[in-house]
Amino acid sequence: MSDLRQRFYIEDSPVRGEVVHLEEALQTILAQRNYAPAVQILLGEMLSATALLASTLKIKGRISLQIQAQGTLKWAMAECNHLGEIRGLADYEEDPRFQSAIDSSTVLSTLVSPVLFINIEPEFGERYQGIVPLDKADLAGCLMQYHDLSAQIPTRIVLASTEQRSGGLLIQLLPRNNDEEQQRVDEDLWPRLTMLTGTLKTDELTNLDAQEILYRLYNEEEVRLPEVEKLQFGCTCSHEKCANSLTQIGLEAVKETLEINNPIEMDCQFCNKRYLFTAKEALDLFGEHLS
Ligand SMILES: [Zn+2]
Repeated sequence: MSDLRQRFYIEDSPVRGEVVHLEEALQTILAQRNYAPAVQILLGEMLSATALLASTLKIKGRISLQIQAQGTLKWAMAECNHLGEIRGLADYEEDPRFQSAIDSSTVLSTLVSPVLFINIEPEFGERYQGIVPLDKADLAGCLMQYHDLSAQIPTRIVLASTEQRSGGLLIQLLPRNNDEEQQRVDEDLWPRLTMLTGTLKTDELTNLDAQEILYRLYNEEEVRLPEVEKLQFGCTCSHEKCANSLTQIGLEAVKETLEINNPIEMDCQFCNKRYLFTAKEALDLFGEHLS
């Protein structure tokens, strides 16, 4: 098994879904920092969730989930783009409650004044930001409620993660277009699928491959599977983006930094890649020259 996303359709119905499985990419991301077990599991669920949500976008760009809070966990973020590249990061203070967990609820229960943002950033066009109330026990519960209410698309989401593997399943009842489709629809289908989806166990989600999961849940239905999409770790940092951040902090701050560090070192927190700016390069950004 590797890092992949499997879309599925229930034949002759407005129901579609996705299954994601992360292993190597998850381990690459978790290896960047020495995260406590519960934070690893939270990040695993967030990464699977963004990979699921990215599939619902029809644009080129990226989608991210970002938690901001006041407790010991300050910040956590997971992102996936239209190429299936994922990355994630968390910032927290040591907390004995983070030493073990079975799901994201362990960390969510410790958050103080938390906010969860869904950000959609198209390559071209306007950004979108939604705020998801974090008032359910786990991440999947919060995201399901958000979709039911704001997008008005009935959605079931199951997420699971260990420190090695993470998995997710999303199934949606899409709006129907015309009366003819309405008549052909099996009214019992969605309640039946919801009930079946609820029987999925977390260890099945992290251990079985996508086809096995779909067979295990929906073998009474006609399930159509398009080609599997690959997911992988990918970072969007660049020398140019670092240069932009230097421009934003301003000439004075850059000069002060150069007095302590020359060249200026900028480390990407997501992938640990280091970017260097000599005094000449840094000052050139402001049209200044070395005196
Ligand atoms: Zn990077």
